[in-house]
Amino acid sequence: MKADYDVVIVGSGPGGATTAKFASEAGLRVLLLDKKQELGAPVQCSGAVSRHALLENEVIISGEFIQEPIYGFAIYHSNGEKIKMDYRLLKPYEYGPEENKVPLGYVVDRRRFDRYLMTQAERQGTEVLLKAEAVDMYVENGKAVLKVRHYNDEMEIRCSVVVAADGLQSQVGKWAGLQTHIKFTELASCLQFVTDGVEADGLLEIITGHEWAPGGYAWVFPKGHGYTEIGLGVICSMTQRNAQQHLDYFLKKSFMKERFKNAKILEVQGGGVPLSHPLRTQYADNLILVGDAARQVNPITGGGIHTALTAGRIAGQFLAGHLQTSNDHSAQSMSQYQDLWMEANGKKMWELYEIKSKIFRMENIEERDLALYKTMSEYFSPNSPFKKI
Ligand SMILES: Cc1cc2nc3c(=O)[nH]c(=O)nc-3n(C[C@H](O)[C@H](O)[C@H](O)COP(=O)(O)OP(=O)(O)OC[C@H]3O[C@@H](n4cnc5c(N)ncnc54)[C@H](O)[C@@H]3O)c2cc1C
Repeated sequence: MKADYDVVIVGSGPGGATTAKFASEAGLRVLLLDKKQELGAPVQCSGAVSRHALLENEVIISGEFIQEPIYGFAIYHSNGEKIKMDYRLLKPYEYGPEENKVPLGYVVDRRRFDRYLMTQAERQGTEVLLKAEAVDMYVENGKAVLKVRHYNDEMEIRCSVVVAADGLQSQVGKWAGLQTHIKFTELASCLQFVTDGVEADGLLEIITGHEWAPGGYAWVFPKGHGYTEIGLGVICSMTQRNAQQHLDYFLKKSFMKERFKNAKILEVQGGGVPLSHPLRTQYADNLILVGDAARQVNPITGGGIHTALTAGRIAGQFLAGHLQTSNDHSAQSMSQYQDLWMEANGKKMWELYEIKSKIFRMENIEERDLALYKTMSEYFSPNSPFKKI
């Protein structure tokens, strides 16, 4: 390890690894840390990501991480009514399994995907340190100093800029005094089962309705090899029951119960998703935040892979330009990252947050259910202005 880096990135999820790749590619000296010994594990994600998200962020699509191609969506109202948008039928010349056509997106294996992204960064020159947990950070003489526990050793690493890509439970922003608190009313508690014995046909199925998933939605995603993910996310302040009780109820009582009757649970996965607005301030002296750490999650769908990849690309490119021309790493100079991000993605995410908030302010459950169903259906339609977020 070197004594000094241009950039040290805390967290090697999609946001951190992408930042590392773009920064290294431009010639910066980059260190990527993760406290895990196996990236992406335990899995806390369904892994749905659009093809556009991967291409836009220069992720070469590889069988190493793809579990299942996706060709469209089925959006369900609470009562079982549905709108099916199968792009194999809507745009038959573009989308399909045939050689000259492409899928709309993929379900990826997060263990392999995260390792793949980290490897791409490493091949561009990023140094990687696993089982390395950042435990504190301070700024001294214009440099960031990160305290890191690597196995049982403690070390201090100096760099020009730290990138906090440390996910939902991010601590790095807090150490720099940023307001990273997330309201209980905007944190979705998610649980999913990977199952065998449930049919799925290349579509992401989204089931709206307060009865099934208060504050969120339920999903059925194909997982490859005949497996299926069945899950949901709920806002805990909107229900007396926990996510596990809701998922049990959904499996046994919903209009899909016949389809689920032979489901065998192979894995149980869960985690939190911030359905809040993006952080108002995503930078401090010698620090920028990307991905879940900056709450850059789509507040309507809860999707955070695309947004983390995009923020990582913007962060890596910004740092490459900035560090090669300036020695000023003050908060004011770091704010340019947020300006770039706002222009590319942030404004639309704020719009989505306003739409979501309006829906969940509705007191009448039937009206709210209908509004969410319509919004989700519009969101995934071919003409949606948002579908690429
Ligand atoms: C059940 C569930 C299903 C989901 N399904 C989808 C989906 O289908 N599609 C989608 O787009 N999004 C989905 N999401 C959201 C998505 O998983 C996240 O938004 C995405 O992983 C964010 O990427 P990230 O790089 O910001 O953070 P993360 O992927 O959370 O990576 C953060 C990394 O930081 C590391 N870390 C944390 N603290 C430290 C520290 N102090 N020192 C060193 N390392 C540290 C962690 O070990 C981790 O590897 C889902 C989330 C959940 C919970």
